[in-house]
Amino acid sequence: MRVLSNYHAHSTFCDGSDTPEAMVEAAIEKGFSLFGLSGHAYMGFDTEWCMTPAGEQAFISEMGRLKKTYGDRITLLTGVERDYYAPEPKGPYDYVIGSVHYIKKDGRYLSVDESAQAQTEAVRRYYGGDFYAYTRDYFNTVADIAKIRPDIIGHFDLVAKFNEGGVLFDEEDPRYLSPALEALRAVTETHTLFEINTGAMYRYGRSAPYPSPTLLKALKEYGGDIILSSDSHDTASIGYKFREAAELAKSCGFQYAKILLPSGLAECKL
Ligand SMILES: [Zn+2]
Ligand SMILES: [Zn+2]
Repeated sequence: MRVLSNYHAHSTFCDGSDTPEAMVEAAIEKGFSLFGLSGHAYMGFDTEWCMTPAGEQAFISEMGRLKKTYGDRITLLTGVERDYYAPEPKGPYDYVIGSVHYIKKDGRYLSVDESAQAQTEAVRRYYGGDFYAYTRDYFNTVADIAKIRPDIIGHFDLVAKFNEGGVLFDEEDPRYLSPALEALRAVTETHTLFEINTGAMYRYGRSAPYPSPTLLKALKEYGGDIILSSDSHDTASIGYKFREAAELAKSCGFQYAKILLPSGLAECKL
């Protein structure tokens, strides 16, 4: 990668462990020339891990201060990671990452990525133990992500977060793959920019980033583009395994990744 960039990162304004300023300084130290923080948008019904409405405004103004302070060393962007079920964030933001973190079932919001235990329990309780019915509902929600008008599609197959080694379900089984591919096809009709997200490699020991190699190959076939992201919740993980992610993307047919500039998107050779 000739240009190091990352736009998916969290700070103490949501569920990250470091301040925006510490994150920016770490990005500069690691040689990044483009960096965006993307606070979790206020959720309303689940406020554990997102910014509060007042926090959103404080985050935006802090990012404004950092843009001025560090602008000669790094190009900074102010982003938001909006969940499918989050109300419209107030902003203004430079970009929106659209993500699905919940499945709505029988009026309840089931967290997809809270913990392996919570996921298994939700599948047992609300799906009679049928992981494929659960993952189908997840992908049916992702298929509708255009509704929240994201610039970047976040962790497309987050539902497989705890499935390293296929311990919970088989990601090549048509019962999993068909709804996943249908969602991928539906999303690429309106939105083509997907992140390759190494977050679960750092935090959960996953061996591959999102989307899985199978889905990444399909994304290439459907005309999608990629943008590298480490979904960082601390300074150490910024740019984690980007070299491996770039190699994987190349093996799936991609030659370029997108980078986001204040003026819009550009291409960078992998
Ligand atoms: Zn997320
Ligand atoms: Zn995130």
